Amino acid sequence: MNTITPEGAGHRADASLVANRALSGRVAIVTGSTSGIGLAILQELAGAGAHVVMNGFGDTKELTATAQRLSASHQVEIAFHGADMSRPAEIVDLVSTTEMRFGRVDILVNNAGIQHVASIDEFPAEKWDAILAINLSSAFHATQSVLPGMKSRRFGRIINIASAHGLVGSPYKVAYVAAKHGVLGLTKVTALETAELGITANAICPGYVWTPLVEKQITAQAMSHNIDRTEVIRNVLLAQQPNKQFAEASEIGALAVFLAGDAARSITGASLSVDGGWTAH
Ligand code: NAD
Repeated sequence: MNTITPEGAGHRADASLVANRALSGRVAIVTGSTSGIGLAILQELAGAGAHVVMNGFGDTKELTATAQRLSASHQVEIAFHGADMSRPAEIVDLVSTTEMRFGRVDILVNNAGIQHVASIDEFPAEKWDAILAINLSSAFHATQSVLPGMKSRRFGRIINIASAHGLVGSPYKVAYVAAKHGVLGLTKVTALETAELGITANAICPGYVWTPLVEKQITAQAMSHNIDRTEVIRNVLLAQQPNKQFAEASEIGALAVFLAGDAARSITGASLSVDGGWTAH
């Protein structure tokens, strides 16, 4: 695991910046944090003072530059672990390497996710397996790996990035909807088993957030419905989202910071919607 320290990034630690932040000194893992919502959550956690392990795919040079920039601007350590979240042994290694490097994991954000859009008739079995593995099973394996340490320290925050599709269905997204409903079940059981131990487990359920994952869906939906992208955005993707706006990824990051903080210690087993009113229907 590569770790970027603020000093390594060419900056001296600023004591006033390091102290007095909501998550000062906490250690977080954010899975799938090289892009989109995960990257925004990583930025917000680092901004609140947490050291963060970045995970996901991408260009090594670009990821190192991002880690250096965030480490320098927030005066925290940012490490990188390239675990493939479809592989349980690599997930276990992500957690154990973090514990060896930082001494503990206080905050786990299960965010890595992929999407595939097709009718059930045409849904490739290997896509079903991959989506279930990355969007659901990875959160189980990571949770199982962090819990012994969290229990021993009687502190932990597990934040699962589910979706409005954890609460309602949409056609053509069978694997994604099934996996995200599963994430809410995982969240509830994790919360119940840890409720007396200083650990909370919650799910954030975003509606549409503007990220590369959504960008790919705009292209796919435009092709399958034979309509242009403006129409896809308003009448297909945001058809169910009453405020007709994509959320910003930083809004999800800000909620993750709140859930990771002391003020959220009584919130557990909850699913928090950030969906412009979608699931109020
Ligand atoms: P994204 O494609 O921008 O980012 C996905 C991240 O996951 C990337 O860092 C990628 O490298 C990583 N990843 C993918 N496969 C991986 C694997 N096998 N191992 C490790 N990392 C892997 O997507 P996003 O829109 O930021 O989505 C992030 C999460 O938010 C997903 O769980 C998604 O389901 C959820 N979500 C997104 C939206 C939205 O509108 N964007 C809405 C609701 C929920």
